[in-house]
Amino acid sequence: MENKVALVTGASRGIGRACALKLAENGYDICVNYNSNEQKAAEVVAAIEKTGRKAAAFKADTADLKAVQNMFREINKIFGRLDVLVNNAGVVDDAYLLMINEDSLSKSLDINIKGYFHCAQAAALKMIKTGGKIINISSVSSVLAVEGQGVYSATKGAVNSMTATLAKELAPRKITVNAVAPGFIETEMIDAIPEDKREGYLKSVPSGRFGTADEVASVVVSLCSDAFSYMTGQVIVLDGGLSL
Ligand code: NAP
Repeated sequence: MENKVALVTGASRGIGRACALKLAENGYDICVNYNSNEQKAAEVVAAIEKTGRKAAAFKADTADLKAVQNMFREINKIFGRLDVLVNNAGVVDDAYLLMINEDSLSKSLDINIKGYFHCAQAAALKMIKTGGKIINISSVSSVLAVEGQGVYSATKGAVNSMTATLAKELAPRKITVNAVAPGFIETEMIDAIPEDKREGYLKSVPSGRFGTADEVASVVVSLCSDAFSYMTGQVIVLDGGLSL
């Protein structure tokens, strides 16, 4: 029997890397998308191959529609099928309203919103006859106001809205669409926050710790299992109680 195939965008590091490795542990062959970090993506591919699964790295800026379409053509040539898309590639660039600059605003909208649509559209086209799962990585910032995250929150709110709409559109095609909204997760994205601000964030988490990328990956893998085949259009918040 052919292995199922999953594409994880932004899989060279952080949450995407953890999702790629855990999906591989659960029997999927993996398409590892990245934007700039070829070396890290190659390391993820090597780690997956060690588990006995097939993997390949695909460089594509998800904000660039042509690059995404090209990536899907390559995936089709190498793997021939697609069962899961994890829309994960994202950026954060905190700024208070009066400090937001146009380049940063465009970059966030392009990657965090347009990039998710580009990949969801191409994946749905491939899954339309076979069914499949689309998991969008959102953020707790989509449901919780965090000062300085106006742009980021807006992009993740858009992810939640698109999740519901695409779920409704694609349900008749046996494609489920759900989102996972993590709180603070230990990755390079969190490392980039200044120490004093990070300590404040830590104090605000009722569980008293940041989450791990592996914990996010566990939820993503669960959503891909048959146990959740009737669930679609939902946003699962995973934040140690931060948003309560
Ligand atoms: P990260 O450690 O900064 O890694 C970002 C990943 O995205 C890298 O693999 C990077 O590739 C890739 N990427 C960035 N721009 C891209 C583009 N235009 N095209 C393709 N790939 C691109 O981030 P993370 O913390 O794992 O976050 C992953 C997702 O989780 C994001 O959507 C983020 O908003 C969400 N999230 C994170 C947290 C958190 O606390 N960390 C909380 C809630 C939600 P290269 O290595 O090639 O640059």
